[in-house]
Order: sequence, then structure tokens, then C-alpha cells
Amino acid sequence: MAVKRESGKIYFSRQKPVFESLPNRGLKPSSRRCEAMGTLKGHDIISALQFTREDLLRLFNLAERLREEIREKGILDYAKGKIMATVFLEPSTRTKLSFTFAMVKLGGRVIDFDVSRSSLAKGETDVDTLRIIDGYDPDVIVLRQSKPGFPEQIAPMIRAPIINAGDGPHEHPTQALLDVYTMWREFGKVDGLTVGIMGDLKYGRTPSSLSYALSKFKDVTIYYIAPQALQIREEVLKNIEGKVEYHLVNDLSEVIEKLDVLYVTRLQKERFKDPAEYERLKGSYKIDAAYLKKFKHIPVIMHPLPRVWELDPSVDELPQARYFEQARNGLYIRAALIKEVLGV
Ligand code: ASP
Repeated sequence: MAVKRESGKIYFSRQKPVFESLPNRGLKPSSRRCEAMGTLKGHDIISALQFTREDLLRLFNLAERLREEIREKGILDYAKGKIMATVFLEPSTRTKLSFTFAMVKLGGRVIDFDVSRSSLAKGETDVDTLRIIDGYDPDVIVLRQSKPGFPEQIAPMIRAPIINAGDGPHEHPTQALLDVYTMWREFGKVDGLTVGIMGDLKYGRTPSSLSYALSKFKDVTIYYIAPQALQIREEVLKNIEGKVEYHLVNDLSEVIEKLDVLYVTRLQKERFKDPAEYERLKGSYKIDAAYLKKFKHIPVIMHPLPRVWELDPSVDELPQARYFEQARNGLYIRAALIKEVLGV
């Protein structure tokens, strides 16, 4: 990823937008550094690494405020007259829907790009497709694509702020927002938490982004729990080195009683080149209520969803299950993010 580091700060490089003749909404901020701005207005949201601790806490508090306002008034008018384009070139339920609901509840409109009926089928490239959508002048584009790094590559060519809604196995920064927001709501803080991240840490994009967001807090410990073949990628460890205490383990039983949160992820079937490898690893980690009840301490159980076989529905009955609430939190934290990016 072409992120420039200077004295520990993170900058995202910018070029001039290509559609000079469109109505001028003001150029995107020339520096990706959020901290100095105290706001994410106009910024591309590419990686969870770009958030500062202040950004995260500000968004959590804004999400709480919007939750209240939405409960009182239903539809708000912050985003009145604004348009969000959703461009999902990979399947999605929660991310696309919660962004859509969030924008509608903020009073804005959403135009969805219907990939199945588009000219992509005629061989048009995703770059051209994005440039065309941008030319119709949306105020923000929410983009999911299978190529790692694609949102960052395309962002300099696009006038509207781009929000990365998942780039293949690489990152899912807004999932990290809702994950850490859920922990913050649960414990009233993030500093000092011990989090187990279990499952497909190699092909999953939520473990990397979650690790990056957690690394912005103090005294966090992460246990990466996975069979050897699915352990966390080296690049992720490099990015959190010195910021988080972490351990790689393959047996949940050894560490479960130390955890505040157990974050379970599914095996990313669609990313396996060899179906035999998927079959071999299928079922290699799984929790159910009977297993969890063997321990004196059961951590809060989270999952980005969808779940397949790794998280048995029997866990739903336990008071520690948080994954449906976690998904619902996505609505409010995404509303907070949209509001900031739009600067409304
Ligand atoms: N929904 C999450 C994602 O888009 C998790 C998953 O698909 O396993 O990455």
C-alpha cells in the first residue's frame, strides 16, 4: 500500500482529480493525515491504519449521539441533498445495507450500482466504471472490490471521497470501526482489553483491520488463534509491531479464560484456490455453547458475520453473545462516518 510514513505519522498520497469540469465541491484534503484536521471531512477511508485514537473516540461518541437522535426523530436531515453511490463488486449483506440505512436515516439518498446488469459484463473495466459513476457527481462512494489495494489506487482518479467497504482479503476499515465501537460500548473503554481473534486470519480482511484499529489504544493484547495454515499475515504483524502485545496460538482452550472478547471469523471459502485445502481446514475450529460452558470465564463473543459452521447457533442463547448487536452497531457508526466524511 502506498502509504507514506514520516516520523510515525501516516499520509496517503494524492493527485489531482481528473474531472475538472464537474461542479466544484472542493478538492479532497491534500494530506490524508486525520489527526491534524480533527475531522474526516472529504477524506478517502482506505485503511484502519489511517484512523487516530482521537478519530475513533470522536466517531464512537458521534455514533451514540446519532443513535439517540434517530431513536427520537427517525429520519434526520444532516445529509439532505447529498447522494451516496454504493458500488459492490463482491457480495454483501450487512455492509451495503447498513451504509444504505445509515445514509437514508441521515436524510440523504443512495444510488446503488447494479453489477449484475452493468457493462462490466461487456468487458468494461472497474476503473472506467468508477470514473463514470464519479462523473455523475455523488458526494461519497462506498466501494467493495476483490483486488487488494484497489480503493487506494483508484482514489486519486475520483473526485468523491471513497470509503473502502472491503478490498478482497486485505482490509475492511468500517468493519473495524463497528467492531471496536462494540467493544467500547461493552467495556466503556478499549485500553487494556485482551482480544482473541480466531479463525481464518490469513484470508480474512476483518482480522487485519480490527488489529489496526485496536493498535490505536493502550495496553491491548491480541491472541491470534488459528491453525498454522490460517495464521495472521506477516504484513499485519509488521503494522502493529511495538503498538500491541500479540501472541500466535492454535488452541483456544489455552487462552480463552484470559480473554475479554473472542472474535470468531469464518473460513473464507471464496478465497481458496484449492478446494481440497478448504475441505481439509473446514471444521478445524468451532465453538458451541457446550464447549464454552466448560470454562469458568466466558468472554464476550463477537463475529463479523456471516457465520457458517464455526459459530454454532447454540451460542446465541448465552449472555455473552454480541454478534447481532455488533451488526446493528454498524448502522450508527457508519452514520457517524458518513456524516464526518460529508462534513455535514
Ligand atoms: N462480512 C465480513 C467481510 O465482508 C466477514 C466475512 O465475510 O467473513 O469481510
